[in-house]
This record gives sequence, C-alpha cells and structure tokens, in this order.
Amino acid sequence: MTKYFRNFLIIMVLTIVAVVVYNIATIESKPPTISYSSFLNSLKNKEIKSVLIRGGEIVGQDIYDQSFYTFSPEIAPIINKLEAQGVTITTAPGKSSSGSLFSSFLPWFMILAGLIFFVFSQQKGDGSPFSKDKGIIAPAKALKITFKDVAGIPEAKDELEEIISLLRDSKKFTRLGGRLPKGVLLQGPPGTGKTLLAKAIAGEAGVPFFSISGSDFVEMFVGVGASRVRELFKQAKKNAPCIIFIDEIDAVGGHRAGASSAGGQDERQQTLNALLVEMDGFQSGETVVIVAATNRPDTLDPALLRPGRFDRMVTILPPDIKGRQEILEVYARNITMAENVQLKNIAGATPGFTGADLANLMNESALLAARMKKNAVDLEDIENAKDKIMMGTERKGMVISKEERRITAYHEAGHAIMARLLPNTDPLHKITIIPRGQALGMTQQIPLDDRHSYSKEYLTNRIKIMLGGRTAEEIIFNQFTTGASNDLQSATAIATRMICQWGMSDHLGPRAYTKDDEGFLGSNSEKLLYSDETAMAIDKEINSLIEDCYQEAMIILEGRIGYLHKLAEVLLEKETIGPEDVDKIIPDNPSHEYS
Ligand code: ADP
Ligand code: ZN
Repeated sequence: MTKYFRNFLIIMVLTIVAVVVYNIATIESKPPTISYSSFLNSLKNKEIKSVLIRGGEIVGQDIYDQSFYTFSPEIAPIINKLEAQGVTITTAPGKSSSGSLFSSFLPWFMILAGLIFFVFSQQKGDGSPFSKDKGIIAPAKALKITFKDVAGIPEAKDELEEIISLLRDSKKFTRLGGRLPKGVLLQGPPGTGKTLLAKAIAGEAGVPFFSISGSDFVEMFVGVGASRVRELFKQAKKNAPCIIFIDEIDAVGGHRAGASSAGGQDERQQTLNALLVEMDGFQSGETVVIVAATNRPDTLDPALLRPGRFDRMVTILPPDIKGRQEILEVYARNITMAENVQLKNIAGATPGFTGADLANLMNESALLAARMKKNAVDLEDIENAKDKIMMGTERKGMVISKEERRITAYHEAGHAIMARLLPNTDPLHKITIIPRGQALGMTQQIPLDDRHSYSKEYLTNRIKIMLGGRTAEEIIFNQFTTGASNDLQSATAIATRMICQWGMSDHLGPRAYTKDDEGFLGSNSEKLLYSDETAMAIDKEINSLIEDCYQEAMIILEGRIGYLHKLAEVLLEKETIGPEDVDKIIPDNPSHEYS
C-alpha cells in the first residue's frame, strides 16, 4: 500500500465518521418546524403525545404521530400544562453553543482538509492515486531510441516494420479500405527487450510514446484504473499518430490473475472493460497503435485477443548465439575493450542470457575494469562480471575452515571428473573453490551451441555430473555436507521433467504427467491429472533414475580415486583452474561430441 493511498484512506474514514457524527447530532432538527402558537394550539386541543425538551427547544409527537419542532421562550409554564395532560416528557441538557458549532463545522473542515491534501499532492505530481499522469509518460516528440539499439531479434523487427510505416503514413494503408492494426502484443520472458522494442517503434516512426504499466492499477480503488485508461487514450488521441505502450498487461487483462481479493478483481475487470471500450472506439483518422507486453500470454483474457484488439502477436525469445553477439556489439560500442576480447566467444559462453543480462554483463565488466584502474576491459573482467551476475559477488573475505576448503575441492573435483569422462556432455569451462554468492565452489560447463532439445543420454549424464560432487565427498570423507543440497535439487528437477514432461521413462511410457494449473477456479486449485497410484509410480521412477545415476557416479569415481586426489590437490593450490589443467591430469580421450 502506498503512502498516499493510506493517507487517502485515513481521510476518507475520518470524513465519513465526521458526517455520521454530524447527522446524529442534528437528527432532532429534522422534524418540520411549527410555529409556537400552533404548538400552543395543539396543546390546548390535547393533541400532544410526547415531547423532548432540550433547553428552549421542543421536539415532539402529536396524537396523529406527526413529529414537530418548535422553540419556546419560556419552558416552565408549558411543562406544567404538559404534565397536567399526562404527556410523556423527556428532558435533555441544552446543547452548548461550542458543541453545536463543532459538530456542524467538523465535517466541512474534514472535507476541506481532504481537498487541500489532494490539490497539494497533485501539484507535486508525486503519485497520489488521483493525479492524472502517474504512469502516463509522454516524452518529447523525438524518442532517440531506434531499431539500431535493438539487436539480436531480427524476426520481431521485421514484423514491426509494417507498424512503423503505418504510423508514418496511415492514409497509404486505408486507401483500399483495409483496417489498420490497432494492437500488437509482444510476448516473451523478462529482459528480452519488449519495452525497448516498443520505444524503438516510436523512435523510428518519430511519434510520441505513451507508457503505462498494468501493475500500476493493482493497488487502486475501483474506478481509478478505468478513469486512468480513459485519460490515457484521450491524451493519445490528441497526439495521434502515436504509440501507447502497456507493460505487464496480464496484471489487468489476466482472466484469473490474482483472484485473491474480490476488490482487486473488480478493479481489474473495470480497467479491462475500459481498455476494451477504448480500443473499440477509435475513429478513422486516429492512428494510435497500442503495444502491450506480457511474459504470460497464456493468462490473458481472450477478449483482448479478438480481431480489432491485440490481433498481432510477436514472440520474442532470448537471443541465440548470433543474436547475443549482436547485442554485445551494441553495448561494446561505448566501452574500451582489450584487443584479445572476442565478442563471439563471449556470446558462446553466455547461453540463456537475455538482452538485459548481456547489457548488464558489459556494464559490470566496465565497472570492474575501472575499479582495477585498467585502461581497457579484458577477458578477466568479463569472466568475473559473468560469475557475479550468475552466482553473486565473490566472497573473498569469507572465513572458510581448512577442512571446508578441502571438502569443497574434492566436491568440485568429483563434478569435473564426471563431466570430463562421460560422453555427450557439455565441455568444462572453469572449476573454482572461491566462494561466490551462496556457493562454496563451482564447476562450470558451457554448451557447444544453443540446444533446444536434449537426448536422454545427455540428461542422465547431467544428473550424474551433478551427483558427482556429493559422491566424491562420500568416497573420501565418508559423509556429505549441506553444500551438495543444491546439486540434489537440480538433479531431482531434471529427473522429474524427464519422467513427467518428456516421457523418458521405460515403465511409464511416452506420456506427459502434468499438473493442471489452468484450473478455472484460480491458481489454488492445482489439480493432478493422474491417480494416486500413478503418482506413486512416478515417484518410484524418479527415485530409481536418480539412484541409478548415483550408482554409476560411484563406480566411475571410485575407480578413478587417483584423479580425484590429484585434481583436488591442484584446486587447493590454484583455487581456479580451466579445462587444460583437467586435461593434464586426466589424459583419457575427451568425448564431447553430442549424439
Ligand atoms: P522487457 O521489457 O522485455 O522486460 P526491456 O526492454 O526492459 O525488457 O530490456 C531491459 C534492457 O535490456 C533494455 O533497456 C536494454 O538495455 C537491454 N536489452 C534487452 N533486449 C535487448 C536487445 N534485443 N538489444 C539491445 N538491448 C537489449
Ligand atoms: Zn556441487
């Protein structure tokens, strides 16, 4: 909850309390006022049933059950008459004038205070939920970002070329009566450059760029999100042709996103409806292209994807090796690189990195080099930056006992020997016992190329390599440390996917066993799509797969215990070693060809 939202709530509650108090305090004045003489008349005719006397004020009911109010200059004689007639008399102390002043001014005071608060927070534009432009940024006409700044996703760029020429010259497109595309949905994992791409479209076409994030609506009152959507479109229409960018559209347009709070759901629905209404309501001649981004396209309300709305979809995946090289080149432009740095090799060593990761890598390398007072960024800086991004900062000062270091050395040696000896695995890249982030050491392998499918052999060997660390500890020290728990988790994760997703079990056969998390009752209703017996069979399969891998790791490492001692010794001495050091110790033919 933001600060302003909370302040606003407090003021709302106080105002409501004040209004209620005011109404209670003045409730007696509600009956119609009658003249004093007509009151005396009723009294004479014995038409009064009951009265409340407070100071000089008389509030009462006649025998016809009509309420009345009047003011008497002198109460004492009236009381006598009322008494004589047997009228029920209630008395109350007279209202003090300050009390009545207070009760009549308090609510107005509160409302005024509230208004002042909002006027203030709007002027400062500091994100009060009522300030109109929060999240709506319309930078100056010329956004500097162009397609030159976006690298490594050529297909996406091609698909968006058309939108750019549309924004530049919409008449050319409608000449033959065609309908203009209105909405483009960019889908892809975070950091792949969706926002960057949207900005580049605006930059290329030279049109204004309005941006808002779906998550801005999440903490709002019902109605505010919707009115903000209307405001956004009003601004955009005034500035057409232009681009509206809606980041994280799943926050508003998810058909079951965050069903946890009823209020939030309401707000979402209203905001979504406003968005749909606005998208459907464009006049011809208003060229506003709406670009939305999401990394969860599966959760989007189908209403958003109908023709005339977000009917163009562009998928952006993390870049392949060539794409990574291109992105690195974009960011290396502004960095002084040492001559021996080959961006191609860095691209090869960073599988799975997104554009944002690569930008971060270049930036971190430059910072590290600067800290070391170097004149250029060299391979060492890049390698260090990469480890920092992937594993956390090196913890040089961390106190590690001699024994711990020794265990870590054998643990990593175990991984390394398995990786070196097993066929159809990724080549070794680096082995270190310098602690970093949560890890005491690590053994890195880097694939020869970007692979999108894996053989069963490759996967089981991955498991064996992961178990190699723990197995080595067991062979040498006859115990294992908690350091191996991460390896176990990863190994179990692979085994589970092999069995449940990829149909690689001999017994269960080629069938996917997945949880149904698309349940229409919300995310809590995850439902298994198989029986309890099948669940047990799956468990058994996963266990035996891991057990088999563990046995094999044990056989391989026990048979090569000499390598284990040698490698651990070198690691303790050098702390970080490369594949060439391992080759010196283990001369066996390396077999890294994939099958
Ligand atoms: P997304 O919106 O998909 O989460 P962003 O567009 O916010 O990703 O990317 C974050 C940053 O990463 C960008 O500002 C840019 O510096 C960098 N980046 C991401 N993808 C690319 C790319 N394809 N080319 C160049 N830079 C990229
Ligand atoms: Zn390990």
